[in-house]
Amino acid sequence: MSEPKRLFFALELPADIQQQIILWRAQHFLADAGRPIAAANLHLTLAFLGAISTEKQRALESLAGRIRQPGFTLTLDDAGQWLRSRVVWLGSRQPPRGLLQLADMLRAQASRSGCYQSPQPFHPHITLLRDASHAVPLPPPGFHWSFPVTAFSLYESHFSQGRTRYSELKRWTLQT
Ligand code: ATP
Ligand code: MG
Repeated sequence: MSEPKRLFFALELPADIQQQIILWRAQHFLADAGRPIAAANLHLTLAFLGAISTEKQRALESLAGRIRQPGFTLTLDDAGQWLRSRVVWLGSRQPPRGLLQLADMLRAQASRSGCYQSPQPFHPHITLLRDASHAVPLPPPGFHWSFPVTAFSLYESHFSQGRTRYSELKRWTLQT
């Protein structure tokens, strides 16, 4: 039997927007504000699954494949800090309904399949900095990135040689 994998469902960010975000981050946060997340790792988690066996992974993939959801436009125009989790994040002032519905469905499927889901409401966000233990000044409002979301993916997270890497295992297209 293979080892369980650390899995999560997430949205990928377009590569050009990942680059624009890290440039903006470098301009607006001091180097000691926290540990910056690499451009390629910037993502929006929809549902965290934890350590999952191959069998359960197949079951979750089959459930995810039944989701029929329209695509949506994601606008990133908000930023904040959660001191408890020591995270500085980027998000939406008004998350699109499609995003909330998609995350709700994936979280409900995960929960029914026995993956623990936090009772906290879903707060869509992209982690920009980790280990941000001191309150940092946030960039002035006015930043804005918008892009169409046409798919969601299942990722594996691996930690090796001091780095976390994500690999996409499977992708599902949203309806047009
Ligand atoms: P690292 O923990 O190695 O610094 P990471 O947090 O990005 O990096 P993972 O812990 O594997 O890597 O998490 C993958 C994704 O799932 C991230 O978006 C993370 O915020 C989210 N996540 C991790 N643990 C949980 C959890 N218990 N509840 C909700 N989301 C989680
Ligand atoms: Mg983590």
